[in-house]
Amino acid sequence: MKSTLPARLGLVFAMEEEQQGLAEHLQDVQIHLLGKREYRSGTLWGVPCVCVLSGIGKVAAASTVTSLIQHFEVTQIVLSGVAGAADTSLKVGDIVIANELIQHDMNAFPIFPKFEIPRSGKSRFATSSELSQQLSNAAQYFIQHELAEHISAASRAQFGLDQVQIVKGLIASGDQFIQDLQVLAALKRELPDLLAVEMEGAAIAQVCDDFEIPFAIMRTISDEANEHAHLNFKQFIHEVAAQYSLGILRQFCAQWFKAN
Ligand code: SAH
Repeated sequence: MKSTLPARLGLVFAMEEEQQGLAEHLQDVQIHLLGKREYRSGTLWGVPCVCVLSGIGKVAAASTVTSLIQHFEVTQIVLSGVAGAADTSLKVGDIVIANELIQHDMNAFPIFPKFEIPRSGKSRFATSSELSQQLSNAAQYFIQHELAEHISAASRAQFGLDQVQIVKGLIASGDQFIQDLQVLAALKRELPDLLAVEMEGAAIAQVCDDFEIPFAIMRTISDEANEHAHLNFKQFIHEVAAQYSLGILRQFCAQWFKAN
């Protein structure tokens, strides 16, 4: 269902570090306080936009996105952030764009099948293929043409950022920072196509499904969800993931007018 409201993008970040550098590009900013969140409306590289820091976890993400939709009347939502790798083909610095999201800690069995969201009849929620493709194009451009300019040689070497991959697939969310390969292996047995784990995406997916709002989720792999997952975590976001995000969102906004 296409919204009749004027097109307005809702941009969500879970952690302060993930949105670093963005504020200075947002113009004609108005700050609104609601539910202990700061919603910043304005234009981002020309695109009408509301930016918000949701905080970490599914409830924080769901309540924030509900406000974005209901109160700020956004017509589409994008989350940009980091995630743990859940597939051996992925390494730190790769980008995963969700085509589907699942809540890995939802289990109302035997009343409902494991992972199924009661009442929705689904366990997997599909993202907007259009928005995801636009993000993917923007990511491709950034990796090919801008990465070397925006990320220092030292960081590129430290995190091994040569041959960065951009892949689409399944992302799982739950209220747990996964840093245990056994936990990850158990999840992978049940969800063999799983690419990444994080803590917000599938909550956003459920709310957007309820309100029929197109959305997309983009994650830079920050760790391998193992016992080293927390090491260099903030440094990686600061030096790499936040730079990816800025560069990719700039490209995404540049394409936005063609699509809206
Ligand atoms: N140690 C961090 C933990 C933050 S929680 C801190 O002190 O701040 C992790 C955040 O990054 C969440 O917003 C989640 O979406 C994402 N994330 C990255 N790697 C993850 C992993 N291995 N498991 C779950 N979430 C992960």
